[in-house]
Amino acid sequence: MRNFAKEIEERKQAGLYRTRRLVSGPQQPELTADGKPLLSFCSNDYLGLANHPANIETLKNALPETGLGGGASHLICGHHDAHYQLEERLAKFTRRSSALFFSTGYMANMGVISALAGRGDTIFSDRLNHASIIDGCILSRARIRRYGHGDVAALETMLAETSGHKLVVTDGVFSMDGDVAPLRELARVCREHDALLIVDDAHGIGVLGPEGRGSVLDAGLTEEDVPVLIGTLGKAVGTSGAFVAGSELLMDYLVQKARTYIYTTAMPPAVAMATCTSLDVIERGDYLRSHLEALIERFRTGARALGYELMASHTPIQPIMVGTNDAALALSKALEDRGLLVTAIRPPTVPAGEARLRVTLSAAHRMADVDRLLAALKECRPMMEAPETAWA
Ligand SMILES: *Cc1c(COP(=O)(O)O)cnc(C)c1O
Repeated sequence: MRNFAKEIEERKQAGLYRTRRLVSGPQQPELTADGKPLLSFCSNDYLGLANHPANIETLKNALPETGLGGGASHLICGHHDAHYQLEERLAKFTRRSSALFFSTGYMANMGVISALAGRGDTIFSDRLNHASIIDGCILSRARIRRYGHGDVAALETMLAETSGHKLVVTDGVFSMDGDVAPLRELARVCREHDALLIVDDAHGIGVLGPEGRGSVLDAGLTEEDVPVLIGTLGKAVGTSGAFVAGSELLMDYLVQKARTYIYTTAMPPAVAMATCTSLDVIERGDYLRSHLEALIERFRTGARALGYELMASHTPIQPIMVGTNDAALALSKALEDRGLLVTAIRPPTVPAGEARLRVTLSAAHRMADVDRLLAALKECRPMMEAPETAWA
């Protein structure tokens, strides 16, 4: 039998042991974690909608009308009018023909990729794609070919030497780096090599593009260019769930074939209604996005001036590259001692030797919050000079 205790001990030795913090109260920058007040810079709630009066009000009003539970899967008797309304709303929001509401982004990726690819097909996947994309690829039983991060030329070579059905899948905004995929170039090579392009815009929806409609519309691309768009609703949208958007034919196909859609209980209908309210806030939320941009600019300028290594990101995901697991954990701990919560991200979430602090900013932050983070980073800067840290 496997020795669980030994494996856990090995993880601890390698600085890879993971623990959970206990949060109480709502998700917001002023977070209570393990009973301690901390200023948080690690949630994906980029617009502050996880604790917003408007969608909470909708949820409260919806509950007496819809009840709480989803009751059954969509294909049995769980497909509620509220789900349908949200799908219509999501199609309009993403400027697409139709949409399908999934329970989580993880399930959307697993279900969509495994429905659209199978044995004998080839999936081309960016090296830094999210775990749920990787698992969706594995589940599909298709051949998987990874291409270097954002390396469209390498992808094009691979596409040219491959026959049969081809799929290309990428994060829109990369979750641990914050950079945006070269979507226009990807759309071009997919068109030229007859490959189906799937974009997972978990971190772009609500934040990027006109009225927050995401990275695909930000790149000026349509449903024809990117036939399959996946988005999550638990991040900037501030509620829960996920969606895929594209042609009616595609949704019809997914309802037949996406097992993570078919064999799971429908989300509480009230959550779907609250999500529609979030989308209203997002569409009218240019003030939120411009505040967020100002926070990002302030953070980047300040952290760079302190000599920290940032990544090529203009999104709210602003990682500080550290290197070793121990150095990342030490910096995270030093910030926590100063009342700040910034989680260290270690392998396998990021490549070995690229452990980092994943700073994320939210429209719910004040400028003074960013200044407090910068002041703490200034105090911690000397500890980054230690020789054992892989410091560039
Ligand atoms: C968070 C994330 C997911 C998973 O979405 P959930 O709704 O949280 O399950 C999928 N893809 C990417 C790129 C993500 O960052």
